[in-house]
Amino acid sequence: MPHELTLLPGDGIGPEVTAATVQVIDAAGVDIAWDRHRVIGATAVERGRPALPPDVVDSIQERGTALKGPVTTPVGQGFTSVNVQLRQRLDLYANVRPATTLHGLDTPFDDVDLIIFRENTEGLYSGIEYFDERLDIADSIARITRRGSERIIRFCFEYARAHDRDHVTLAHKANILKKSSGLFLDVGNEVAAEYPEIAYDDRIIDNLCMQLVDNPQQYDCIVSTNLFGDILSDLTAGLVGGLGVTPGANIGDDLAVFEAVHGSAPDIAGQNVANPTAMIRTAAMMLQHIDEPEAAATIEQALFAMYREGDTLTRDVGGDASTAEFADALSDRVAHDVDL
Ligand code: ATP
Repeated sequence: MPHELTLLPGDGIGPEVTAATVQVIDAAGVDIAWDRHRVIGATAVERGRPALPPDVVDSIQERGTALKGPVTTPVGQGFTSVNVQLRQRLDLYANVRPATTLHGLDTPFDDVDLIIFRENTEGLYSGIEYFDERLDIADSIARITRRGSERIIRFCFEYARAHDRDHVTLAHKANILKKSSGLFLDVGNEVAAEYPEIAYDDRIIDNLCMQLVDNPQQYDCIVSTNLFGDILSDLTAGLVGGLGVTPGANIGDDLAVFEAVHGSAPDIAGQNVANPTAMIRTAAMMLQHIDEPEAAATIEQALFAMYREGDTLTRDVGGDASTAEFADALSDRVAHDVDL
């Protein structure tokens, strides 16, 4: 029986990196019946449909798991981010973003291995915003709830326990945002007490950023609220080679949408130069999730080998291969399971 999954190629570089990823999954021999939805975001709005069409939501709810490319969010106006809508509608409260050194890539550190756990449904992304035209004053409310805090922090500790990770750091700004960040920190301290085998500490977000660019190896699992988590995950992506190589997953109690950290990168869209590595590593996370660990491992090992050798890499990481050339070389390696 094939796995029944939803596929959302997205826009910008999304269709290119998604095609490359599906090619690699096929090469690994995983049988998937994709339910593809290309009409989403601006493409849907142009056709008079909602940015997040109901059939997309239905498809994910029926199948449980989706692989998603980036969908462009208009800046300052237009429709609410499809990415944010999806996470909120499907209650995908845990955004998991690993930042792991890819050996072979020229980066400032050799052995970064950390994971950002970003709360995905509330905080400054709650959508509670006001603009007073008379006074020219804008307010954005960061809503933090005990329930929302507890479930992401517990998710992080449970993940650490299941994956033999021994250190959780909670990032906050409770010295200034005494109520909202203060609640998140209080809940963290309570939940941490239930996991005595896992070392726990907290850091003020600005201090943490400084320490991350100085000595990231001291960190393991980092849990934070929505906006801090978003920024931290781009920062840590930068430590390990950039957005082109960093995977991600949005996970709820019953549903999961796997999407890379990067956006639609309109500056390089349609040129066959985007790096599909982030999306392919995202797919490997998805394969773990749907209980295909061997295929996930084969793909990851083949990717690592490609980076170690360095002959066929895309432009963003110092090579000159196109998206398609990279996908062909990796698929070949995965299909023949060579030199892993
Ligand atoms: P968003 O607001 O959706 O996060 P953004 O425009 O802020 O999007 P991205 O689209 O994620 O940011 O990317 C920023 C830049 O990083 C891009 O303009 C592009 O140059 C580079 N980039 C991102 N993803 C990739 C990729 N997969 N391959 C190569 N370069 C990439």
